[in-house]
Amino acid sequence: MKLAVLGAQWGDEGKGKVVDLLASRFDIVARYQGGHNAGHTVYLNGTKFVLRLIPSGILHHGLTCVIGNGVVVDPQALFAEVDELARNGIDVDGRLVVSDKAHLILPYHRDLDLLAEARRGERKIGTTSRGIGPAYEDKIARRGIRVGDLASPDALEQNVRDNVIARNRLVHDSTMDWKPVFEQLLHHARRLRPWVTDVSLMLHEEMRRGKSILFEGAQGTLLDIDHGTYPYVTSSNASVGGICTGLGVGPRSIDAVLGVVKAYTTRVGEGPLPTELSDERGSRLRESGNEYGAVTGRPRRCGWYDAVAARYGVRINGLDALALTKLDVLDGLDRIEICTAYRSGGRTLTEFPSDIAQLGTCEPVYESLPGWPTPTRGARRYADLPENARRYISRLEEVTGVPAAIVSTGSERDETIVREEKLQIAEFKLQT
Ligand code: GDP
Repeated sequence: MKLAVLGAQWGDEGKGKVVDLLASRFDIVARYQGGHNAGHTVYLNGTKFVLRLIPSGILHHGLTCVIGNGVVVDPQALFAEVDELARNGIDVDGRLVVSDKAHLILPYHRDLDLLAEARRGERKIGTTSRGIGPAYEDKIARRGIRVGDLASPDALEQNVRDNVIARNRLVHDSTMDWKPVFEQLLHHARRLRPWVTDVSLMLHEEMRRGKSILFEGAQGTLLDIDHGTYPYVTSSNASVGGICTGLGVGPRSIDAVLGVVKAYTTRVGEGPLPTELSDERGSRLRESGNEYGAVTGRPRRCGWYDAVAARYGVRINGLDALALTKLDVLDGLDRIEICTAYRSGGRTLTEFPSDIAQLGTCEPVYESLPGWPTPTRGARRYADLPENARRYISRLEEVTGVPAAIVSTGSERDETIVREEKLQIAEFKLQT
């Protein structure tokens, strides 16, 4: 079984928890894009783990975790994560693999990120300023430095020198010295070496041996560089296409696609968000859902479930099913709205517009459903959910067009409803 698990909204959907939940059914978990701007939060026996680069599958002993070529790697961030895991008794050696084709984030990328945001002024994108965008820029401009380049110090020296000089020209008062950057890279190279491999080849060999793989997405479809709300997007392909390019596997290597969605909508950073609630209802969602960035602590913008955006996620990724998270955050609300269409320029739109200016004018068309006074928090069986919560989920499935195979009712691994019959509909061949 090769299953993709990715975000079908604006990121932060709770992918970390879903991947962690499913990981024990797989041999390998592979990340295909993004950098340490992703922040997957997993709670395990009361301990909080925030995983940025390393797939959350690492919390399962014996599982191999892969960082693909589509990911940009900040070695310092990677080592910090490895050290934190080690402090909690989790050893990554022999279980962590990094693609030799993954591009590196270097100190000057972080400076360039901050500079670019400052220059954008009011039109800033709201990046995490960790150098991810500039590292992808260098990749596309064909001057990036890859993990595999660390094995050839002479060529590396030349590349680092050229890149630092070019960057000093971009940042007028910068006098960054290339030598310490180069020396630090050589130092990193020694620690990285045991993990580096040709990931595409490794995955093909493992697949031939019948090993199962979970492809783990970071961010979300609406933040995808091509299909998201450009320019308010991330710098990589968070949607399903990123799996093939970001790991070097063919499309038939993906048996099924599970889209993670929250029972409402959030987004961090700038850009249009049609169902945003700027009143106390938005604050209520933010507080009950603890909607603050896992990496930056930034408050997330919150609103009702947007089925137009979710249907778009279904289309772009060919979703088979949903993992619906944070149902419990809606506990105690009197009424809950679902956005089923937009109104824009006197027209009703049922498809997500590709023009961002138009998206900015869209007013949500809501359907109102009754809430539920009894808490869903911690529920593990669908039948235990209050009737109105079940009605909400059914309606959400209807307007989104795919079944909710997993329903999450809390942040712990076992606070989850796995609906095996819906997994069957989606033709997953997963065993419980
Ligand atoms: P990710 O990047 O998609 O993994 O999402 P984040 O980790 O940024 O945000 C998800 C947050 O929601 C984490 O703190 C999770 O522990 C938490 N979470 C996930 N599922 C649930 C749920 O069903 N209920 C509640 N209350 N919290 C959840």
